[in-house]
Amino acid sequence: MARSPLRIGLSARIFHPQAGATGLQSKSLQYLEQSVAHWVMSRQVMVLMIPAVSGDGLVHRSSIRLSDYAHYLDGLVLQGGADISPQSYGEQALQPAWAGDRQRDAYEMELLHEFMEAGKPVLGICRGAQLINVALGGTLYQDVATQYEAPVLHLDASYDKFAHAVSWDGASGLARLYPEQGGGNVISIHHQGIKALGKGLRCEAQSADGLIEAVRLEGKPYVLGLQWHPEFHPPGSGELLDCNPILDEFLTAARGRRW
Ligand code: MN
Repeated sequence: MARSPLRIGLSARIFHPQAGATGLQSKSLQYLEQSVAHWVMSRQVMVLMIPAVSGDGLVHRSSIRLSDYAHYLDGLVLQGGADISPQSYGEQALQPAWAGDRQRDAYEMELLHEFMEAGKPVLGICRGAQLINVALGGTLYQDVATQYEAPVLHLDASYDKFAHAVSWDGASGLARLYPEQGGGNVISIHHQGIKALGKGLRCEAQSADGLIEAVRLEGKPYVLGLQWHPEFHPPGSGELLDCNPILDEFLTAARGRRW
């Protein structure tokens, strides 16, 4: 008998109303970037975006809570996007441009905790990896280029074409997942970066400058954060890390929760 497709929730990106704008840009928009949805949809998976219910909405919060989504869905992917607010890890933004999105932080932290509470797996991408770290009590560099000594480039105008190498941390889960290789090239574009690790997290991969590029929760449930963007890796690219093993590991964990 065919197994029913997994249901994977995707956190929303939030576009806040722009001052002086009219029409759609005067509204709060919640959206997904399609390549992350398509990446997850490359398997037998239904992807559903989970709207945030905080913010300026006119609709009263119903009895349906984010915990109900965590029980209904099989796993959660935290999308990339806006910076984490330094206030979310107890700092003030050193520059206005680094203030981040506290509203989205609160929404995604609640999501993360509800999925963890339900024992469902979570995969964080870029901002999602940073969110996992901060939600578990870790901190970030507000700006890697100026706060981290001798960084390799982690940001470039070529955006989703910009790659750098990462290497697995010795006994990490990624090292076990890729026994034939010590790391790979990944599309990694971010100006914040993980500083102090959150509680229960271990470093899984680093760039050549020692910056943390992947974190995993020790024990259960399955929680993995990637500082890079697997969804930007073209299928079959020989030069970039094949991230299908990571997707399959996450989905296997999701199915394991159900069956
Ligand atoms: Mn990087």
